[in-house]
Amino acid sequence: MATVTFHGACGVVTGSSTRLDWGERSVLVDCGMYQGSDELEQRNWAPFPYTAAKLAAVVVTHAHLDHTGLLPRLVAEGYSGPIYCTGPSRGLISLVLQDAAQLQEEGARYAREKGYSRRHAEPKPLYTEEDARRTLKLLRTVPFEEERELFPGVRFRFTRAGHLLGAASVEVTGKGSDGEARTWCFSGDVGRYGVPILKDPEPPPLPPAALLLESTYGDRRHPQEDATEALGKIIGETYARGGMVIIPAFALGRTQEILYHLSRLVEAGRLAPETVFLDSPMAINATQLYDQAESEHDEEFDALAVDPLGNGRFQRCRTVDQSKALNTRGEPAVIVASSGMANGGRVVHHLLATRPRAPAGAPSSTAPRRSPSRARRCG
Ligand SMILES: [Zn+2]
Repeated sequence: MATVTFHGACGVVTGSSTRLDWGERSVLVDCGMYQGSDELEQRNWAPFPYTAAKLAAVVVTHAHLDHTGLLPRLVAEGYSGPIYCTGPSRGLISLVLQDAAQLQEEGARYAREKGYSRRHAEPKPLYTEEDARRTLKLLRTVPFEEERELFPGVRFRFTRAGHLLGAASVEVTGKGSDGEARTWCFSGDVGRYGVPILKDPEPPPLPPAALLLESTYGDRRHPQEDATEALGKIIGETYARGGMVIIPAFALGRTQEILYHLSRLVEAGRLAPETVFLDSPMAINATQLYDQAESEHDEEFDALAVDPLGNGRFQRCRTVDQSKALNTRGEPAVIVASSGMANGGRVVHHLLATRPRAPAGAPSSTAPRRSPSRARRCG
């Protein structure tokens, strides 16, 4: 069987990437970006400990940047083979890599204009938008449960992992030196059971010889609270004060779950849909992809009378002017905006605009969010 080398997500929860070697042939499972502290993100600039151009294939478990974010750099350094992903992952990967490349270029341009850079006299992006475009051309979609050959003697298959639209565990099967075929299962990020919208994770059809398990949440239990009820209580109390509920939400996955719960509150007559605003172009695009991926919806979602992710359900703000106008509406509203960590994106100006003016005064608006320590763990 292959030799396995872990190139990321060891001792930290980002930068997932694992290399499998069969003699001269190498395959990469995920090529994630380190995210978090400056020290961690510095690692994204380190040379790859292998020759990118010599990899036979790359298999991607899901679209999150900590599993895909260095793919454009891999391509910039000479990789030109297939990048396998599930069909529903393709659109999300396209969204996140183009966005990441744009941010990289903007960051380098800003550093150049302001005359600072910790790394270079002439600041450069980690990769460019052109690198991202070339990467997307290498994507090859493979349906869940269908086996495909990586190269003669080695096959792989995706099974649903919940977690995010298109997210998969990957089984890789090949013969060992004793002639016996063995399967190794890379879990990817595995979602919880019973989460709205997407189908639950599915176990591999047969027990693998080895299981390589991501364990981002390995040390804690998720609360069993009713999320719709908790959200409804906060919104009810805030609206009664005439305030706004600002919800920082990751554009992929978390936003769609929140829209689902908000839609249930509308169904229960506890929320007026015209007072809910989705304020993030990326989240709007991701929501459309979620809505279109009918094969991935669970039974509860299909049974809903009104599509919570549909175009007409809630207000959508694509432009900056639309976003800024929300701060001067002067009426109760729910604003769902990026980023999920509230450390960038449009949510920041909403939080600044609605912060209490006087320290002694009771704040009228609310920004429900998970604690930073937990949010940081989101893979
Ligand atoms: Zn993830």
